[in-house]
Parts: sequence; structure tokens; C-alpha cells
Amino acid sequence: MAGIIKVAVIGAGAAGCFCAVEMKRRRPEAEVAVYEAGRRPMAKLAVTGGGRCNITNTFEGAGSLAKVYPRGDKFMKRALKRFGPADLLHWFEAEGVRFVSQPDGCVFPKSQDAMQIVRTLEGLMRRLGVKVICGRRCIRIVPSAAGGIPDDNRGDAPATVGSGAAERFVLEFSDGGRETADKVVLAAGGSSTAFLRGLLPESVEIVPAVPSLFTFRIDDEGLRALMGTVIDNATMSIAGTAFRSEGALLITDWGVSGPATLKLSSYAARYLAERDYSAPLLVNWTGMTDAGAREWLGGAESAGPRRQLGSAHPPGLTGRLWEHLISRAGLRPEMRWPELGPKGRNRLVAVMTADQYRIAGRAAFKEEFVTCGGVSLSSVDLGTLECRSVPGLHFAGEVLDIDAITGGFNLQAAWSCAYLVACALA
Ligand SMILES: Cc1cc2nc3c(=O)[nH]c(=O)nc-3n(C[C@H](O)[C@H](O)[C@H](O)COP(=O)(O)OP(=O)(O)OC[C@H]3O[C@@H](n4cnc5c(N)ncnc54)[C@H](O)[C@@H]3O)c2cc1C
Repeated sequence: MAGIIKVAVIGAGAAGCFCAVEMKRRRPEAEVAVYEAGRRPMAKLAVTGGGRCNITNTFEGAGSLAKVYPRGDKFMKRALKRFGPADLLHWFEAEGVRFVSQPDGCVFPKSQDAMQIVRTLEGLMRRLGVKVICGRRCIRIVPSAAGGIPDDNRGDAPATVGSGAAERFVLEFSDGGRETADKVVLAAGGSSTAFLRGLLPESVEIVPAVPSLFTFRIDDEGLRALMGTVIDNATMSIAGTAFRSEGALLITDWGVSGPATLKLSSYAARYLAERDYSAPLLVNWTGMTDAGAREWLGGAESAGPRRQLGSAHPPGLTGRLWEHLISRAGLRPEMRWPELGPKGRNRLVAVMTADQYRIAGRAAFKEEFVTCGGVSLSSVDLGTLECRSVPGLHFAGEVLDIDAITGGFNLQAAWSCAYLVACALA
């Protein structure tokens, strides 16, 4: 039996299960075991995209990769060339899954059911003979150059076919058990820094983990009264920084949400964490420049100089939001244009293009959240995702310091990483 490779995958999420299947397909004689802390595999995948699974994105119109992947864009550029969205869709289509793309590039299974993806991967693992062992939390990965642990110290190894080959890792579990493996793939998803530090050898560099993809709390009664208002074309930024996002903004009973908010939370994830989620926020409600806003005001005035300020609002704004902005500028909606004066005009331009609020906290976005940080990309070979300081130890998915804005990009990162690792192991 010498020469049979024993691979332990830690974490039965999207990355771990995909990697196990691809690895086993390429090297059927390999013994692949997936250890999952939870009670069933792919529990998170089952709830992605609100249960519909936004599996990837066409990347058409997504802009630069740096805008999509605030962490890991350079790696993803390489990885997408080897296994991009089209490759992923072919992969699943060969298993009978069909897909639909939305105008915004988000791709979902035609069934609109994340469980179809889960069941496809589960079925493949079963057919190919991948062992999935649930309820086992790995707490330590110990490289073991000596070739494993004595037989009487072994836990319930899922298989011992690899005996004879030099086992290079000992895995310790929270239940006190141990397993051995020639190769280890850590695909444990977003994990706390402390947990990763305890799990991994000290030589592995870890970038401190903080949350990404969250909504902002804003303590402003006037704004909250507008709950439910959507502005399609807003720009948000954090004053004094280069963090800036564009897109739809939703006013909630808590503050602000929507794609522009989530993108900004992703770009500024670490900055905001360091400031305990307190920072000055600028909102351009109109998407206009300063000059554009003046031009619009001039046009509105000449269209009806005797009309009230509140009677016509800039495109994309609701009447109620416009009235809110007029009062934030210290004016009244019933004022007439000639009463505005140069100072009033300046204040109105300011609230239209750079309205100032304060981020006073964060709230989880229940549709999707990810971790910024994890195993540093400088610790791994970018072609194989193998740890530079611990040969035989690979990483895949969110456990790495790679994360994206919403839109199917996070799962694509998991699939691409998993594919690279499977190729490297095979
Ligand atoms: C509610 C929600 C919705 C989302 N929707 C989308 C979406 O539609 N599109 C998109 O692109 N992204 C989405 N994401 C993000 C996406 O789910 C993740 O980026 C992706 O699941 C990462 O895959 P992964 O395999 O790396 O990690 P995970 O899917 O998190 O899997 C890791 C697995 O490892 C297990 N594990 C952890 N530690 C251990 C341990 N020590 N021992 C054994 N097992 C362990 C965990 O229990 C888990 O099952 C969503 C996230 C959330 C929270």
C-alpha cells in the first residue's frame, strides 16, 4: 500500500468539499477524509444568497479586481485564469446543474435552490469515496517529520490505508482524538485569529481577522424616519480617507444598508475595526459633482422662480428625502428660490453632494458576511496555496486573507482556491 497518499481536509464547506471531489477525481487512489466541526457538511453553503446560492459572478461590468477583492485581488487574477466562473459553471453543468445570470452579473442555479449545489457535491463525494466525518473539530495541526504517531495513540482513523507512507501530520481534535495525514488542506472558513494561532504552526503568518460586509448604524432621527427609502445612485465615502463606494443605498431603521454601504464596509473593514466602528461618513445622495448640483439648482430655479424649494427634487431622490436635505441645509421646503441666497445655495450643494453623518456602529448583514484577514497570502505559494514554511499544508477558501464584496465573488474565491489545491495535491 506504500505510495497511497492520505489527505485530510479540515472543514466541509464550499472550499473543502469542492477540493476533496476534484482531488479524488484526479487521484482516485488517494485516501481523502474531510473533517467537519458541525453536524452536517456545507451548512453555510445551504443558506448562501438567501437560500438561492449566488454561486459566482460573470465579472462582466465588475470593474477592476481590486474593487471586487479588497484583499487578494492579485492572487485572484492568477487563480481566475486557471479556474474562473465559466470553468465553474461547466464543472457543475456536467453534473446536470443549470444556471441563470442576472443583469448585475450574479449567477444562481436555475432551480434557485442552494441545496442543489450542496446535494451535487455530497453525491459526488459519496460516489468517489471521499469520507466526510462530521462533529470533529480539529484544534491543532502538528507537522510530524518523524512519520506519524504510535498506533496506540491513534483516534478512530477513518482509514489506515496510508500506513506505510511517511505520515507528515498529526491532527488533534477537540474530542481528544488524533488522526494522521500525508497532506492537510485547511478549509475552515473565516476563523478568529486566536483559533488559527492555536491550530497552526507558529511559522504561519496570520493577518488579524475582522468582519467585513456589514451595515452602518447612524444615530440620526431625521434619517431613520426615511426608513425604506432607496437611492439608486449614491456615493459614500469615509471623510479623510480614500475609501469610497458607489451604488444603491437603502435607509433602514438602524442607519444605512444596500450595496454601496456593504462595499464601503468591505473596503474599510480594517480601518473601521481599528476605530471601533466610529467614523465620519459622507453621502453624495445625487451622484452629482459640486458643479452638477449647482447646475441642477440653477435649472430648478429658472424653471419656476416663484415655486417652493420642496416642489421639485433632484433625479433619483424622493420628495421626502429632498425635504430632509433641505432642512439639513438649515432651510425650509416652503422657501422660494430667491430667498435661498449664496450661503443657502452652498449649504444645499453640500448636503446634496457631501452630506455628513457619523458611523456609530455596525450590524451584521443577514444575507452575507465574511471575514477580512486569515492566513497571510505571503505565507503561501500562490500557485499551489501550499504553506511556504510547512510543506504539505495547503489552504483553501475564506481561511486565507482573501475576501470580496457581495455578488458571488466570495464563493468564486472558494472554488478557485479549492481547484488550485486539488491540482497541486494530485
Ligand atoms: C449568510 C451568508 C450568505 C452568503 N451568501 C453568499 C453568496 O450568495 N455568494 C457568495 O459568493 N458568498 C456568500 N457568502 C460567503 C460565502 O458563504 C463564503 O465566502 C464561503 O462559504 C467560504 O467557503 P469556505 O469553504 O472557505 O468556508 P465555509 O463555507 O465557512 O466552510 C468552512 C467549514 O469548516 C468548518 N470548520 C471550521 N473550523 C473547523 C475546525 N477547526 N475543524 C473542522 N471543521 C471546521 C465549518 O464548520 C464550516 O463548515 C455568504 C456568507 C454568509 C454568512
